[in-house]
Amino acid sequence: MMKIYEGKAKILYQTENPKELVQYFKDDTTAFNNQKFALKEGKGVLNNAISTHFMQVLSESGIKTHFIKKIDERNQLVQKVQIIPLEVIVRNIAAGSFSKKFGVERGTILSKPLVEFSYKRDDLGDPLIPESHVDALGIATFENLKEITEHSRKINIILQKEFKKTGLILVDFKIEFGINSKNEIILADEISPDSCRLWNENDGTSLDKDLFREEKGDIIEAYKEVAKRLGITL
Ligand code: 5GP
Repeated sequence: MMKIYEGKAKILYQTENPKELVQYFKDDTTAFNNQKFALKEGKGVLNNAISTHFMQVLSESGIKTHFIKKIDERNQLVQKVQIIPLEVIVRNIAAGSFSKKFGVERGTILSKPLVEFSYKRDDLGDPLIPESHVDALGIATFENLKEITEHSRKINIILQKEFKKTGLILVDFKIEFGINSKNEIILADEISPDSCRLWNENDGTSLDKDLFREEKGDIIEAYKEVAKRLGITL
């Protein structure tokens, strides 16, 4: 298969079907725009399993996603899409860059979920981008953004509910959307503890990539715990 894209945590390969790709999950773990790097053995297997679970849950709830099927431990078959170069971030509780930028104490519950956009450009450090700039730069139209925001709010409600059942609080998460061959805007990329902030309901401890970013613990053990709580068999 021909490699068509390699990102920080995944590789995309073209299949014989021009509309389908294989998405391979790597063990590479990065933070702070690649300044921090480590190989975490088995992370790809965990993220493939966890993302498969959520893509299936979301599909069952009527959300259109790129996910077709899990092929094996590290690979998924997905629809080929043109990725919209935006990191769509949904926040329920203040943390991370939001707390830092806007001076809101970590842990403050937001009065309503916030949907924000970052321009997916590593060379610029993925800057927060206003809707006017998304439109002016031709990244997406206001109408596209309205649709993306609506999808993101629905996804947030579904994911929050799923995590709550397992004693986890969904603080925030990052998702990406793409345009498929039918010109539909669908959920792409992955949903995993690499891209979500998850706090233990009982003691507030993290079970996500913050453990790696802040050197607070073992992400593999944490991701295994997330998978176990979600009832995912590895
Ligand atoms: P923050 O903007 O606070 O750093 O991140 C908000 C949320 O989006 C966190 O759950 C974080 O893990 C996720 N996120 C932000 N940027 C990225 C990124 O480049 N890659 C991944 N996987 N997640 C990100």
